[in-house]
Amino acid sequence: MRRRFFLANWKMNVTVREARVLAAALRDRIDAVILQACEVVIAPPMLAMPTLAQELAGSRIAIAGANMYCEDKGPFTGEVSASMLKEVGASYVLIGHSERRDLFHEDDGLINRKLKAALRDGLTPVLCVGEHADERDAGRVLEVVLGQLQRGLDEIDGSRLAQVVVAYEPVWAVGTGRTAQPQAAELVHGSIRSGLGDLCGRNAARRVRIVYGGSVTPTNAAAYLSQPDIDGLMVGAASLDPDSFVQILKAGTVRT
Ligand code: PEP
Repeated sequence: MRRRFFLANWKMNVTVREARVLAAALRDRIDAVILQACEVVIAPPMLAMPTLAQELAGSRIAIAGANMYCEDKGPFTGEVSASMLKEVGASYVLIGHSERRDLFHEDDGLINRKLKAALRDGLTPVLCVGEHADERDAGRVLEVVLGQLQRGLDEIDGSRLAQVVVAYEPVWAVGTGRTAQPQAAELVHGSIRSGLGDLCGRNAARRVRIVYGGSVTPTNAAAYLSQPDIDGLMVGAASLDPDSFVQILKAGTVRT
């Protein structure tokens, strides 16, 4: 059985001081039952990572970088490398979030280079894929998502692929309050798993966690988690409220 995976994506929404308070509140509320059933990861703003590492030390709550560059060091002003993220306590890194793709023009080639660098330097990448509303309306969801998956994972050894976490986040659902129907999301997750099977074999594909993201709340979390190929949730807005995020995690402790 795949261990459920939950990622709180705080984006650029908290200061370092606020991140400390939020992390402490989560550390106090996330109990052993949740941690037994679920892997819990927080992606804070970069500047707050050392603070979170201190605040969460010994808690089994992991930290993710929200982004990274694909080179190890050099003249890349404003960027950070995988090894820098590791040094401040990250074990995961988000790659290809739709906000990075759309606002910062990241393409699949760059995303592929970042994924390779993350794996090479010992970070677990969370590869985000998802279609825009016009692509959905044109019936191109699988073409878009499977294309992003294939190009993002190009030339990555099959034996490494089972390590990668895939996040399916329809762009029209991220931060909008609009949500995909759980059955429609399940169809995409099933297709992602089949696509991974073609890349790395069915056994490895069965081990990959594929999580859903896009306006997840305590009210809709259980419906997504009841789908067989939805292995967890990526949560933006609702992860900024400790009570809401913990309620979502509690939904993750129930297997139907
Ligand atoms: C996200 O940013 O990955 C996300 C899922 O955000 P929200 O939950 O706010 O839609």
